[in-house]
Formats: sequence, C-alpha cells, structure tokens
Amino acid sequence: MSSDLHPLTLPETGELSNPVGEVSKPEVPTKGTAPWISVMRWFDSWAGLEEARTDAPATVDWVRAIPLITVHLICLGVFIVGWSWTAVGVAAAFYFVRMFAITGWYHRYFSHRTFKTSRACQFAFALLGASCAQRGPLWWAGHHRHHHIYSDKPEDVHSVRQGGFLWAHIGWITSEKFFPPRLKSIGDFAKFPELRFLDRFDTLVPIICGFGMFGLGKLLETYAPGLGTNGPQMLIWGFFVSTVALLHGTCTINSLSHVYGTQRYKTGDDSKNNFILALITLGEGWHNNHHYYAASTRQGFYWWEIDITYYMLRAMQAVGLIWDVRDVPVHVREGKNKIR
Ligand SMILES: [Zn+2]
Ligand SMILES: [Zn+2]
Repeated sequence: MSSDLHPLTLPETGELSNPVGEVSKPEVPTKGTAPWISVMRWFDSWAGLEEARTDAPATVDWVRAIPLITVHLICLGVFIVGWSWTAVGVAAAFYFVRMFAITGWYHRYFSHRTFKTSRACQFAFALLGASCAQRGPLWWAGHHRHHHIYSDKPEDVHSVRQGGFLWAHIGWITSEKFFPPRLKSIGDFAKFPELRFLDRFDTLVPIICGFGMFGLGKLLETYAPGLGTNGPQMLIWGFFVSTVALLHGTCTINSLSHVYGTQRYKTGDDSKNNFILALITLGEGWHNNHHYYAASTRQGFYWWEIDITYYMLRAMQAVGLIWDVRDVPVHVREGKNKIR
C-alpha cells in the first residue's frame, strides 16, 4: 500500500470546511470525475481518492452504480434457474449469518464500540461483513458515526426528512459525494492494515463468495443430486438473492425505521422502534432505543423487545470470543427523556 494513500493522512471527507449535507439543495460541482475512475472504483474503491468530489451534488453516480443495478437484475435469473429448498435454505442461512455480521459487527462493534474482542475475531467478522457487499467496515462505520451526530439534520447523509424516502434508503449509497470513507471519523480502526485492505478492495470478498456459491452448487449437484440444486441456482439464490435481500433489510433502518414505529425516547430525530424491522434485522429495529443510548450493545431494552443479535453476542461472550458486552443502565432506560 503506497504511503501517499495512507488513510490517516487523507483529508476527512465532508467535515468542517466542506460539510456533507445540503441533500435537498446540492452544491454545484467544481469538476467531474472521469468515467474511467468510476469504473476503476468497481474494483479499487480508493482509486482517485485524492480527487474525490466531496463537493459533488448529492445525486446518483450512474457509472459507479452499474454494479449495484446489475446485481438486482441478476436476481431475475430465478426465473431461469428455478428453485429448490436447498438453494432457498442456503440463501436464508447466508442472510442470517451476514445480517449478524452487519448488526453485531459493522454496527455495534465498528461503529459504536459497544464491546471488545481480539484482533483475529475483529478481522474474521470484518471479513464476513465485507461479504455482504455493503462496502468495507471503515466506510460503513465512518458514515454511520456521522449519521448519529447529524441524525435527520441537513448534514445527515441518509435522512428521509431531508432527502426523501428513496434517497435515505439507497440513493445516498450511489452518490459520489458520499463515496469516500470518512477515515478520520474511524481512525481507531483505520490503523489496522487488514481493515484498510478490506475497505479498499471491497468487491473482492463478495466476488469470491459468488464463485464459492457456484462451486458449492456444482459439488451438491455431483455428490448429492437428491438435493435438486446446481451451480447456477446456488449462485443466483445463495449469493445474489441473499445479498440483495440483505442490503434492503439493512437499508430499512435508514429509511423505514426513521418513519414507521413508535418513539419511546425524545432523541430530537425521527428514529422509531419497530417490531417487524427488529425481526428482519435481528434487533436493529429498536432504533429509537439505539439513538437514545448507542453505547449499549443491547438495543431491545426490555425482555419482550426481541434482539437476536444481542443474544448471539451474549453467547459469544460466554465462550470468551468477545467481552465487555454492555447493557443499558436502568437509570438511563427509565430516564427523564422517556416518553412512554
Ligand atoms: Zn448506530
Ligand atoms: Zn438512525
């Protein structure tokens, strides 16, 4: 990794002198990004990072968005490859373990540091998180920290109140403006070279997963034909359908959970608690709780608020893989900002 690309020397994107925001009133860009740089970023997301247009308008970079659109279109392949219980089951299982990587690790660990772990375990779950095709842990967590600071204010990168539902759900991800990682915001993890590698080459792990799923399907077709699946079917269901469902499941927390549900706490933003979203996202739907007290590993504050990620993290703590898992203190949970 060349020294001029050392992330800790890069300018923070979109802060202080160049605030991110103005989602509804974008600035006029000073120059355009060459299309070939957008194409290079399909493989090396740090290509042209020095010239990243953080002053770009908050609009879709269509060249950069081609892979995102393509993976959605490939899902239509289910009408060609058909389905089997095996393929659908693998897709569901891969959704489940990777949603845990997003909620438990990209979110509750990398973004909020709500528990501690070893460097090896940190890397293992960063790797699993990278397989979700939601970019690297540094990009994901850096932007998420920003969201908590400016939640539903003009500077928020994904706010339904500011930019509309579709923008908050998926549009912001495609924008040149928010493409670079916020490395200063995530400097505590950007110091690890293995995490910088995952962040820079963020399509590498998903591509390997795609080939892996195809290979698994081929193996099952050869050695367990009774399961009724094959390489192409496993590729479409096990990788593409699972990954697209996972992406939209995650995105609901930026969109739906700032619109639909109930507010238990006065947080000054639109965050809501939503039981259905908590099931889909393994506990992230208790989003108003989370905006109120983000230092807690646990997001379902009461026993009836199902938080599967929290239970899994508790199990990991029980076997010694992680430690210092945090709950919400009772005086905080029952504090004066509680509405209901
Ligand atoms: Zn958060
Ligand atoms: Zn939020």
